[in-house]
Amino acid sequence: MTGPRVRMAPSPTGFFHVGSARTALFNWLFARQNDGFFILRIEDTDAARNLDDAREGIVTAMAWLGLDFDAGPFLQSELWAEHVASAEALYANGYLYACDCTREQIDERIKGNAKPGYDGFCRDRHVVRSEVTVLRFRVPDEGVTIVPDIVRGDVSFPHDSYEDFIVVRSNGGVLYPLANMVDDRSDAITHIIRGEDLLPTTPKQVMMWEALNHCPEVAFVPHPLYAHLPMLVNEQRKKLSKRKDPVAVESYRDQGYLSSAFVNYLALLGWSPRGDEEIVSRETLVAQFRLEDVSHSPAFFDVKKLTHMNGEYIRALSLDAFIETATPWVAPWSNEWRPSDRAVPWSREQFDVALFAQVAHLVQERVATMGEIPAMVSFFFLDDVPYDDATFDKIIRNDPAAQTLLRSAIERFATVTWTTDVLHEATLALGEPLGMALRKSQAPIRCAVTGTSVGPPLFESMELLGREKVLQRLRDALVRAGA
Ligand code: GLU
Repeated sequence: MTGPRVRMAPSPTGFFHVGSARTALFNWLFARQNDGFFILRIEDTDAARNLDDAREGIVTAMAWLGLDFDAGPFLQSELWAEHVASAEALYANGYLYACDCTREQIDERIKGNAKPGYDGFCRDRHVVRSEVTVLRFRVPDEGVTIVPDIVRGDVSFPHDSYEDFIVVRSNGGVLYPLANMVDDRSDAITHIIRGEDLLPTTPKQVMMWEALNHCPEVAFVPHPLYAHLPMLVNEQRKKLSKRKDPVAVESYRDQGYLSSAFVNYLALLGWSPRGDEEIVSRETLVAQFRLEDVSHSPAFFDVKKLTHMNGEYIRALSLDAFIETATPWVAPWSNEWRPSDRAVPWSREQFDVALFAQVAHLVQERVATMGEIPAMVSFFFLDDVPYDDATFDKIIRNDPAAQTLLRSAIERFATVTWTTDVLHEATLALGEPLGMALRKSQAPIRCAVTGTSVGPPLFESMELLGREKVLQRLRDALVRAGA
């Protein structure tokens, strides 16, 4: 294969961050449109406590997003020996030196220095390696390191703003910038597409990559190109915060965002399709996406826009597809996958598949996420109407005219032909002597029958629910109101 080789290198954090999902998507799009090779590598060297779960979480999230990879998941820790060998080669060739300074000594010496950080004290002291020495990289005194970045152009980092950074800890542990870069070398990665938060680390990696290419015992590997993707920000234009912003991909899946909508929305975070239409298929994304067109300004992760887009995707489903997609939310027992921590308000016995199939088109038009469905249809399946107390008090308990209307509705509905149109006409007629427009006259009926003031179209719902249940509910509402 001659196409580019890219990789996604998430750290196992316990959930899959939307920023990681965007990075994964951009890598995937780039690989797929260029006949490339996409590797998943989990950077586990900071040892997550439960690695198996973390790995599984990442793989599941990638599968949900439909981002298949060509190799992996590999674990960074498995390549430990190679990290050490590379560090040793850098040391043997003079790119690293041992340093035995303590933090206190360094702080004492560098007070008031213009250049921040370590002062190079041990550079030429030929300190003998021991269990108290770290290995530092000898950053050239002068010049710059250029990071070739497809999104930002060449970014130049002057060497005098970099201290001789630590590469190997005193306990022998190889630090992340080298480990990550050695893995990229051994996977022969050609394009490193990742978040811009990693940009400050990149010059160190470019310097070490170059140094390794000069070590005779190490195979030469051409430098990769970089694409540092713009930061994701919240409404306050601040970097998304793990604690304050909803950033876990899993929580979007569990709330009933469709993966197709989610992927479409992620693609817009730093990139936009050619035409005016932002809703574009996966195939169009693959065809149109260009790394060169990615912007470097921060991208607003707009949950409202995502939710709106999700609603559009839901409405675009065929009715059958909608019903099938809704199954984990309405009948979790019948599905292998179900949203976590989400119990439906009805029992397995109360749920009626055939009724749901009839009701489905009414809700498909009205939900923005699949997770909204159960609350919207629970009155169909529950024996006791799920009343919203405040709404009930306002619309029925504290409104004698509403109670009068309910009384006449009970009488009238007992004999009318049970169809949507007739129920509609009848309700209109019931309101007339009370001076109520339809909006007013249907409110107490809706509240009595469904428990609340919003929901699927009332008369269709009543037709589906059946005369007996509706009459019972109207009577129960009057009793409940003490009328
Ligand atoms: N493991 C790093 C992170 O999750 C990504 C490193 C990389 O892509 O080079 O932030």
